[in-house]
Amino acid sequence: MESIWKKTCDSEKRPALKDHIQAEAVVIGAGMTGILTAWQLEQAGVRTVVLEADRIGSGQTGNTTAKITLQHGMFCSALIEKKGEETARKYVQANQAAVEEYKRIVREEKIDCDLTERDACVYSGDREKLRRETEAARKLGIEALLKEQIELPVSCAGAVCVPGQVQFHPLKFVRALSECLNVYEDTRVTEVEPNLVTTACGSVHAGKIVFASHFPFVNFPGMYFARMHQERSYVIALEHAGELHGMYIGDGKDTLSFRQYGPYLLLGGQAHRTGENREGGCYDRLKEAAKQMYPESRPAACWSAQDCMTSDGLPFIGGYAADCPDWYVAAGFQKWGMSFAMVSAMLLKDLICGNENPCAEVFAPSRFSSGEIPQLMKEGGKAVKGLTKRFFHLPAETDASLKRGHGAVVETPQGKAGVYKTEEGNICQVDIVCPHMGCELAWNPEERSWDCPCHGSRFDYEGNLLDGPAQEGIWQKSTDIS
Ligand SMILES: Cc1cc2nc3c(=O)[nH]c(=O)nc-3n(C[C@H](O)[C@H](O)[C@H](O)COP(=O)(O)OP(=O)(O)OC[C@H]3O[C@@H](n4cnc5c(N)ncnc54)[C@H](O)[C@@H]3O)c2cc1C
Repeated sequence: MESIWKKTCDSEKRPALKDHIQAEAVVIGAGMTGILTAWQLEQAGVRTVVLEADRIGSGQTGNTTAKITLQHGMFCSALIEKKGEETARKYVQANQAAVEEYKRIVREEKIDCDLTERDACVYSGDREKLRRETEAARKLGIEALLKEQIELPVSCAGAVCVPGQVQFHPLKFVRALSECLNVYEDTRVTEVEPNLVTTACGSVHAGKIVFASHFPFVNFPGMYFARMHQERSYVIALEHAGELHGMYIGDGKDTLSFRQYGPYLLLGGQAHRTGENREGGCYDRLKEAAKQMYPESRPAACWSAQDCMTSDGLPFIGGYAADCPDWYVAAGFQKWGMSFAMVSAMLLKDLICGNENPCAEVFAPSRFSSGEIPQLMKEGGKAVKGLTKRFFHLPAETDASLKRGHGAVVETPQGKAGVYKTEEGNICQVDIVCPHMGCELAWNPEERSWDCPCHGSRFDYEGNLLDGPAQEGIWQKSTDIS
């Protein structure tokens, strides 16, 4: 389940932090957001250190489809309606500036990352909706074109297309850009204080702290866990599917995404809230759709990723919380985190350097007050988190009935446990209480992982942490069959 980006881009490992150091700014997370933010800060003369729990680009950035576009689906008319024309225009301008900034950096830094210019299109079966969207896009200053015929083998009334957008190889880009930066890999931040970031083997004292960890993991202040959920979706790389010229996304629920990379057509879809797994196989359904549309095609790779979704559809970019004036955050990208990573980097650089930025208010996390969030949630989460680790006795009939390669939640005399039977017939047993805020994990048969339906943390079947906001694995115990 490795993405084509990870398969085709290697880089030398950076050392872990082993010291107590000082910096003007520290960035937590070396995905696209963290690396771009550190790069922009360094360009502005701010001495910056990046701390990464795993490898550069190993998170969602290594599993994206990597279209860089201001065309975020059928969004213009909806955004004008929800937020007004002025805010919608600023949203568009920020993302257009982000696309141009990528082009500039690739050109000036001579980065070899397969960046190519394409039209970005949203297709729909609803002709009237397409007409309205084209009009709304033009009102916001986008040179949108309404095309009645498109190259995809889908039934639709046409597409709204925006020229001059780009696609690239995200890991080639992010790893090349990070070469001049001070990045520590295998360095998980475990504690954040007002101007101090602590890891297992060292710490950074910094004037400014940026959370670019995909999901901001400090719960209080900020309460980002109550303002976002995560959504997972799936991608297959198809060989022998012909060649696409544009980048496409469908409108509505259960939509598909298309782009070309070299000989591969990347087909994405099957989105669902993380932890709320769908019946049947997401990969199987995507493969079935591929077979219908491209009968000659053959899947060469498949992978999945997730992103944070906010309640008003806009990301959180700006100050972390009123009582932490030196903390900043960039999250909630709604699956448009390539352009939003650059929007974040440019905006956070301005905020940290004290420059004006016209979008600061549009994306400010403070646009919601914490007063809106029920106190109950806060207390409830804390209470469950306090549960002590438990030892489970797995009933013998569970072991007998569970098929190899399958996982399930089982009732034991001590309460619920998560069990997985490996292909070799060994049982792996884990606690299914999420260490982040105590929600019950659900088995994800697609990825053979334990996923949290509340905030999207994920763990492999042995209990190791895969995705935050949790910052530690789940407790595992060898089987004790009673
Ligand atoms: C299937 C799919 C397709 C997508 N396709 C597109 C697309 O075509 N175009 C687009 O614009 N967007 C797309 N997106 C969205 C985009 O991929 C993401 O928004 C983006 O990659 C997020 O980047 P990031 O740097 O914020 O997060 P990440 O890449 O996840 O980086 C966060 C990093 O922080 C690290 N970290 C976490 N906790 C700690 C800690 N305590 N200490 C140190 N490090 C830590 C992690 O290890 C990770 O490397 C897609 C999303 C999905 C799900």
